[in-house]
Amino acid sequence: MTRKYNFSAGPAMLPQEVLEQAQAEMLDWNGSGMSVMEMSHRGKEYMSIATEAEADLRDVMSIPENYKVLFLQGGASSQFAAIPLNLLRGNDSADYVNTGAWSKKAIAEANRYCSVNVVSSSEDNNFSSILPFEGWDINPDSAYLHYTPNETIGGLEFPWIPEVGDTPLIADMSSTILSRPLDVSKFGMIYAGAQKNIGPAGLTIVIIREDLLGDAMDICPAMMNYETHAKAGSMYNTPSTYAWYFSGLVFKWIKKQGGLEGMGEINKRKADRLYAAIDDSDFYKNPVEKEFRSWMNVPFTLANSDLDESFLEQAAARGLVTLKGHRSVGGMRASIYNAMPEAGIDALIEMMQDFEKQYG
Ligand SMILES: *Cc1c(COP(=O)(O)O)cnc(C)c1O
Repeated sequence: MTRKYNFSAGPAMLPQEVLEQAQAEMLDWNGSGMSVMEMSHRGKEYMSIATEAEADLRDVMSIPENYKVLFLQGGASSQFAAIPLNLLRGNDSADYVNTGAWSKKAIAEANRYCSVNVVSSSEDNNFSSILPFEGWDINPDSAYLHYTPNETIGGLEFPWIPEVGDTPLIADMSSTILSRPLDVSKFGMIYAGAQKNIGPAGLTIVIIREDLLGDAMDICPAMMNYETHAKAGSMYNTPSTYAWYFSGLVFKWIKKQGGLEGMGEINKRKADRLYAAIDDSDFYKNPVEKEFRSWMNVPFTLANSDLDESFLEQAAARGLVTLKGHRSVGGMRASIYNAMPEAGIDALIEMMQDFEKQYG
């Protein structure tokens, strides 16, 4: 068996150790005589899996007591609607930051429910930089401020957290959650689809401060109401049981890597090495200003886009796959989430250098 280095933006690589453990437990979880997939979500066995996964996530992220952790479905994209439906709380306007494609989707959806005030947009610099917080057009009466700490497509990432005082700060962390230590107490709500840096697709994690629950709009569907899910322990209906279980194994794996401190050091090292290889060459280019470069998604272009296809072919021949950039950006994109081993970065850099020698 040869495993590839998969640079996909999501669903992305999962830690091999965790896949192996899931494989070993596939037919018979812990003497239950059943696969986790076959268990009742309300049974004693599955409840122990679910509870332990939440406890491990709370531990890994140091989530304060006054936050609920919800294990939902529908992807981060469903939250784009759920956020205004739950968090406007009688207000008619909300602040949004536009740093790229995912910000725009969140804004478009919120526009159905309220008046969106775009406090800052990176559109004018072609999403290569983030404007200083001091210049943002904050509305003090806004229900909340929503932003995207890491733009998965453009590879633009916040190196700081906006300080919005009493306004709840809402963050779409789909592609950066668990990549390094985070002070959860600065946020009203954090959410993420699992398929990038957590586990299998089909699970969406919401971490929400308790005081923000209980004031959803009347038209908010029960399935989108955070309070409904919080009260039911994320079992208002059948949750994504296997993805929840598997993510629990990933949380334990993160602990073994030294927790988020350890993960952060590894991720920084990986990103630094790849950006250095790009910057040291005249052949490869990354458009993002250095301080805003993503640790997780590294877009880069070749000096001549006619060579893109050959690059992808040669990479694939070495087991380096899914490097094609998003159609809106072109070029390449290497997504290097937690589960991408350092050896995968080294193999990519070596391939890039060999390719440049050949064509540069
Ligand atoms: C992938 C992604 C989404 C969409 O996630 P789904 O789970 O597919 O809905 C939203 N926001 C960001 C930042 C993403 O990277």
